[in-house]
Amino acid sequence: MLKVRKKLVIGNWKMNGCLERNASLLAELRLMGSSERVEVVVCPPFPYVSQAKEILAGSAVSVGAQNLSSFKDGAYTGDVSGSMLLDLGCSLVIVGHSERRSVFGETDHVVATKVALALELGLKPILCVGETLAQREAGEAEAVVQAQLDGVLAVVGAALASDVVVAYEPVWAIGTGRTATPDQAEVMHAFIRAHLERSGVAAQKVKILYGGSVTAANAPLLFVKPDIDGALVGGASLVAESFSLICAAAAAI
Ligand code: PEP
Repeated sequence: MLKVRKKLVIGNWKMNGCLERNASLLAELRLMGSSERVEVVVCPPFPYVSQAKEILAGSAVSVGAQNLSSFKDGAYTGDVSGSMLLDLGCSLVIVGHSERRSVFGETDHVVATKVALALELGLKPILCVGETLAQREAGEAEAVVQAQLDGVLAVVGAALASDVVVAYEPVWAIGTGRTATPDQAEVMHAFIRAHLERSGVAAQKVKILYGGSVTAANAPLLFVKPDIDGALVGGASLVAESFSLICAAAAAI
């Protein structure tokens, strides 16, 4: 019997929040009921991970991080290591978000190193991939995403890659209000799964999330697609009602 992949919804707060605002958002998220069908995670900025862990303790929502160092430990001022994230109780970590790639210059190699380190530590890596608008318009979307996946596969190998969650986030849809249509997203998700399969990865096990202007309104249309296993949510995860509705939409499938 084919095992259904449990949906996963992750809130990426980016560099937003303060103690007071977080406390009220987290207090509302605490009330979210647990569901067999969806796992919910929030990723606050590093300084607020402990606050989130404390307020969400015993709730259905777990806590992750937005990034990790590509180094294990040592003289790397300003960096935060994967083992520190584990120490704080993070269950997963976002790697290679397009903002890390474009603003902070993270290359495919750095991203692959971070994915490998996270796997080694037992932190679930959420590997972000996605093309820019210019690349899509040039017909290069699939080639770009394939190259981003291959960079990681070359370092971690096919066997371990089945423990990675892939987040397809077209750059043109992040924070723009312009979501990929459910059909556009499904085409890319199916492509990603097929490419992983061809590369020897147990691809039916791999969760592939969609990210890019996900809202309570478009989430149900995305989640019915067979290869969309959940969402990486930016802006809408800062509003308890929207985020809860997105999680409820995932649980309803
Ligand atoms: C993101 O930060 O990963 C993201 C998808 O942002 P938004 O939902 O705001 O587009």
